[in-house]
Amino acid sequence: MSTDASPPLIECRNLTRSYTLGTQRKLSRSKDRPTVTALDTISVSIDRGEVVGLSGPSGSGKSTLLHLIAGLDTPTSGTVTFDGTDLSTLSGRNRTKHRLENVGIVFQHFHLLDALSARGNVALPLVELGIKKRDRRARAEEILEAVGLGDRITHKPAQLSGGEQQRVAIARALVTNPRLVIADEPTGELDTETGAQVLDRFTSVAEDTAIVLATHDPETLAIADRVISLRDGKLVVDETDSEGTKVTANPHTESVSAQSQSQSVE
Ligand code: ADP
Repeated sequence: MSTDASPPLIECRNLTRSYTLGTQRKLSRSKDRPTVTALDTISVSIDRGEVVGLSGPSGSGKSTLLHLIAGLDTPTSGTVTFDGTDLSTLSGRNRTKHRLENVGIVFQHFHLLDALSARGNVALPLVELGIKKRDRRARAEEILEAVGLGDRITHKPAQLSGGEQQRVAIARALVTNPRLVIADEPTGELDTETGAQVLDRFTSVAEDTAIVLATHDPETLAIADRVISLRDGKLVVDETDSEGTKVTANPHTESVSAQSQSQSVE
């Protein structure tokens, strides 16, 4: 738990993200264009090392919230702070540096480069950080070992199963020792058993890293310490603690299992 001396790792306050649609000339004035509110005044905080599930039907705002938390997108209004720093105060360059150093991303479709080996894929974020080749290779091998792929280091993605490819993607997200990993439907392309194995490796290797994973899958949500539930861009339920500073959401949708409901109260 965070204390006054140590702010939450992530704190979202009154986050709203709207998209203005339409570029036709007759709708050229922005007030005439239709607007989609993907997220509507969301306030939530995430602690260090916490595993948070993000549930909700398709279109409820999960990806939008992940992108804002990761600093990949900027809110229409409201703030995201990372360890006390308001991301909107960072220049574009510093925001990129922040993402490279502190945030790992796991996509549903893995997004591995076909031409590179597992080790080459995992080492890529270290290239961007300017780490020397020998150190990159050693670190990539170490993290591939940790996710159980020590014997697949030189394999190309096409030579790996779906579950192995996702473990390479997880290793790539963790290779920089990020403080936060976001994962958008990380097991969406895997069968249930493989998905469970991949998640198990993920959370055990990422012990000190906060993980936010968006999914509709109740089995994936069951690994979370807490579940935040969205519907139409709003938190389904939110509770504020006695000091009024921390907001926690509890799932109350039919897609969320009773098990994850019982996990959701801190
Ligand atoms: P989820 O991840 O839960 O499926 P999203 O965050 O992708 O939901 O989308 C939330 C809402 O915002 C949806 O109605 C979606 O159509 C809309 N939306 C997302 N991205 C854009 C965009 N770039 N332009 C317009 N509308 C968008």
